[in-house]
Amino acid sequence: MTDILDTVADLTYLRDKRELETVFADLIYELVGASCLTLWRVVGGAGGKTEMQKRLTLPSSTEAAPLRPECPHCQDKQRALCLEASENPASRHVFPINNDSRLTGLIEVIRPQRMTQRQERMVSNLVRVYGNHAGVLDYGDRDELTGLLNRRGFNSYFKQTMLADAASSIIAVADIDFFKRINDEFGHLYGDEVLILMGRLMEVCLGEVDGVFRFGGEEFLVILQNTSLDEAAVRLEAFRAAVQAAVFPQVGRVTISIGFAAIRASDTGATAFGRADEALYVAKQQGRNQVKCYEWLVQDGSLREEKKTGGQIELF
Ligand code: GH3
Ligand code: MG
Ligand code: MG
Repeated sequence: MTDILDTVADLTYLRDKRELETVFADLIYELVGASCLTLWRVVGGAGGKTEMQKRLTLPSSTEAAPLRPECPHCQDKQRALCLEASENPASRHVFPINNDSRLTGLIEVIRPQRMTQRQERMVSNLVRVYGNHAGVLDYGDRDELTGLLNRRGFNSYFKQTMLADAASSIIAVADIDFFKRINDEFGHLYGDEVLILMGRLMEVCLGEVDGVFRFGGEEFLVILQNTSLDEAAVRLEAFRAAVQAAVFPQVGRVTISIGFAAIRASDTGATAFGRADEALYVAKQQGRNQVKCYEWLVQDGSLREEKKTGGQIELF
């Protein structure tokens, strides 16, 4: 018991979500003598989409991951579910991870025997501690006004997700045109309303899992995964047109300028953002309410990319 409390106390010092997941998963795995443990996280939510993303499996060498737990099955359950597969003597327990009664993930445990009620209650309570702490960390990653992930959320998302998926991903930065005028003419409250509606419109039009961020002020970021430059251009142009067609309460018509670029394997969040931002700058210069692609601007000579000797691209 003292060992468990020691680990729980250490856990509350952690600020890195990935590390927190690992330490917590190890704790439960050891505590209940699991043969396999999987940690799932709920991602998305845009346009009603909810998906479960596998974060880690223990032992890490496990080839055949357990079945994907059905999200709706656990949605309204606060306590553990024990789903015993009749053809398999192992017991499968699924513990929902909640934050403010919102399901944020699941811990799936497989062990030779079914847990006792006492064990089950112990794990449920540890999951609550974990869920609350993870929720506090997540709180700092979200923008209060729009509910989108903020700049900090973008940075940790980029570090964790982009390493694997950089090859075919696009980053876009979208900036509302003449937003200052909206504030000046209608007041900050209506300006805020435009930001909230813009965030929603973005999620509906471009809703990728976890992929829409409020980077600051009236500037939004989007990550489009598994997308070519051509496809991204079509989707972003459709979003730009949807903004132009929308009628914002009191304010009326609003337009947006967008710059986008392919994400490179060597990128940090800042370098990827930098190229999309250069394309955005051109969109603003050329009259606003348009979409510009960094690579195509370099190709047609509108932007210049500094090259190092040896063909390496210089990042700044
Ligand atoms: P451009 O077309 O060149 O982008 O012009 P702009 O007016 O949109 O850009 P500028 O950077 O001059 O102004 C951005 C304004 O956004 C200034 C700032 O007061 C406002 N702003 C930033 N954050 C918020 C916010 O949370 N709420 C509201 N209502 N306004 C904000
Ligand atoms: Mg602006
Ligand atoms: Mg701006």
